[in-house]
Formats: sequence, C-alpha cells, structure tokens
Amino acid sequence: MSTIVFKDATLLDCTGQEPKYPAAVIVEDGVIREVSEDSASGAGAEIVDCKGKTLMAGLIEGHMHANLFLSDPSDQTRRNLPSMIVVKCLKILEDTLMQGYTSALDAGGADAGFKLAQQQGLVKGPKLKVCGHALSQSGGHADMRLGTEINAPLAHYFAVGVVADGVSEVRRAAREELRMGADYIKIMAAGGCASPADEPDTVQYSIDEMKAAVEEADAVGKIVIAHCYSPKSMQRCAEAGVKRVEHGNFMDEATARILKEKGVIYCPTLATYDIMARRGAEFGIPDYFLRKMKIANEKAQEALGYAFKAGLVIGSGSDMVGPAQSFKTKELELKSRVMGPMGAILSATKVNSEILKTDGAVGTIEAGKAADILILDENPLENIAVFQNRDAIRVIMQDGKFIKNTL
Ligand SMILES: [Zn+2]
Repeated sequence: MSTIVFKDATLLDCTGQEPKYPAAVIVEDGVIREVSEDSASGAGAEIVDCKGKTLMAGLIEGHMHANLFLSDPSDQTRRNLPSMIVVKCLKILEDTLMQGYTSALDAGGADAGFKLAQQQGLVKGPKLKVCGHALSQSGGHADMRLGTEINAPLAHYFAVGVVADGVSEVRRAAREELRMGADYIKIMAAGGCASPADEPDTVQYSIDEMKAAVEEADAVGKIVIAHCYSPKSMQRCAEAGVKRVEHGNFMDEATARILKEKGVIYCPTLATYDIMARRGAEFGIPDYFLRKMKIANEKAQEALGYAFKAGLVIGSGSDMVGPAQSFKTKELELKSRVMGPMGAILSATKVNSEILKTDGAVGTIEAGKAADILILDENPLENIAVFQNRDAIRVIMQDGKFIKNTL
C-alpha cells in the first residue's frame, strides 16, 4: 500500500466551497482516502509540502478531438497514413494530460482503442470517454471530401466522422459506433467551420434522422450529443431528444429557455474560436475555415451569457485543432468572463464529471474519489490564467500516480 500526504495546501476542492487553509489530502492506492486540516498519517507515507500552493481536482476536458492535429482538418486524412495519424493522436493525448486534464471526452474521431490504451497504462493521456465517429449527412460537417471528390481517402477511418444519410443508415451507423465502444453518439446537426462544404448557420439532418440516433443511444442508456450553432439547429435537437448541444455560438434567449425546459446540457467551446480569430493565420488555418471561425467567435460570449442566465447546465470544452491543441486551458479564462472564476473551474471539474457520467469517480477533492490532483503556484480564483502557464502547474497526479512533480 502506498500513501502520499499533501500537507499545508490551500484546498480548492471543486465542490463549490471557498478555498480552505491549511488542508491535507491523503492519497492511498490511487484514491483520496481523507481530506482534513491535519496531516497526521502513518509512518512510511510520502509527504508533499504544499505551503503557498493551491491543490485542486484535475481538469476535465469536455470536448476535444485527439485526431485533429493539422490546421486543415479536411486535408488530414488525405495527407497522412493511418499509422501516422495514430502516433499524432497519442502525442496530443499526452500533451492534453500535461495541460492538467486528467479526464476528457473525445467529441469525434478517437475510437475506444485510445481509451483502452490509456486504461491499460500503455500510453499517457486523460482518462477518456469517446464518441467514436460523429455521424454526418452527405456534405455535412464531418464530410471532409472536397467538391471534386467522390471517395474518402485511405485513412478516412481516422476522420472525425462518418457519412450516414436517411433513417436506416443513421440507425446502422449509430449501432456500429456503439458496437465499437462509443460512450456517446455524436451527430452533426449543423454546418461548421472546419468543413469545406457548409456554413455554420445551416441545419443538418432531418428530425427523423436525429430521432433514430437518439433512439439507438437511448436503447443502451446513452445520449446523443450534437454539434450546433444556430437557434434553429439547437431547437431541432431539443425536439428530437438530443440531450447535449455543443458550441451553440448563435444562442439566443428563447433557445436557452427551450434547452432549459427540455433539460439539454450546453457545452460551449469558446477557446477554439478565440485563438483562431487571433492566431489562425499564423497557425496556417485555411481561409474557408478562418472566415467562419471569426464569425462564430463574435457571438460566443453572448451565447454563453444567455445560457448562464437561463440556468443551463454548462460543461466545458475547448475543441482545439492543429497547433491550438496546446492551449486548451484558455477555455477557463474565457468562461470566467461570464461565469466568474469559480463557475469556470466548476464547469471544467465537478460539472464536467457529472455530465460525462463518471459516476462521481472524479471531479472533486473528496474522500473516495480518484486521486486526480493538480497543485498550482497560484490560486486560480485569483488568477484564472494560471492554467495557461505550464510551469505554474507543479503537480499533475492521475489515479495516484505522479505524471508531473516539480515541487
Ligand atoms: Zn468539435
């Protein structure tokens, strides 16, 4: 039995309580055994002095794409062999962990193999839940073919999604993803920015097609999450029984109310639009992509404002692609402008843990939870940007193992 005692920490337990000092957290065999003021423990324990530091729960990334490593996602499977794509995905997963994310949802592209590889200790990365391939209509947000192409490239298995048209194809595609271990069914219910052939303010999939996906997910106790931008796309999702919508940059007051009534979770992804609007050209984002990202960015904060005011359950994801993958924690700073630092932190810890259905295993610093722990040089309630300074993240612990320790 191995025991680690973090003593003299400022504790931000991520349950919503204000920070406490002094606090001790005792970790035993990968699990938080005790949280107290007193650091008394049995002989032989490893003691970590946290004086002047803040100890909190590991972050949870609610919307990432391990497989989007190129600035031009539509070109990715055209220019890379499958083996190269897997290697690059693994690098992104490891880097995501090093940003402080001890758990994550891959919102389209990664299959359950990545999740198992992490569970089995073969690779470093966040504990994963996966959507497998997102379902997209022809010409939809996950149809990465150019207008001049009929067939998808060799590596299309590693693309974000698959094309399925009509109720029976959608049903079959959903069943295939579930068969291969998807934790959620992801659908593209609107156009997007990274796709060459559609616009964000359009709607995709018929209500009947979406209902087919919902029925298949529901049959096995899972939910559908949907890529959306416009009020119309979100309202159609709510009507079809989709339980979680992503992005939603053009949210309005009426739509926020409808989502609230129907119990739909909202996962805005502000960081990707923010960084692309500022640095997209430098990152080599193609023009068609950048133009749409800038439009979506203009409304992102306003959308979150409507959702926050309506009292929606708000998850946290960054949806970064290409070189922006390294800057996921910007999401907390952007969310804090609307939700306050505590709201932003809870969204990326406790709330994300609940909406990712981790069965309460992670997301807070409480006895019985997995020992997923960050120790920071600064209190993030006072400086929410602290997560963006990797050197200020002194400890990253996942399931009781030190991933990083510079204390
Ligand atoms: Zn996404």
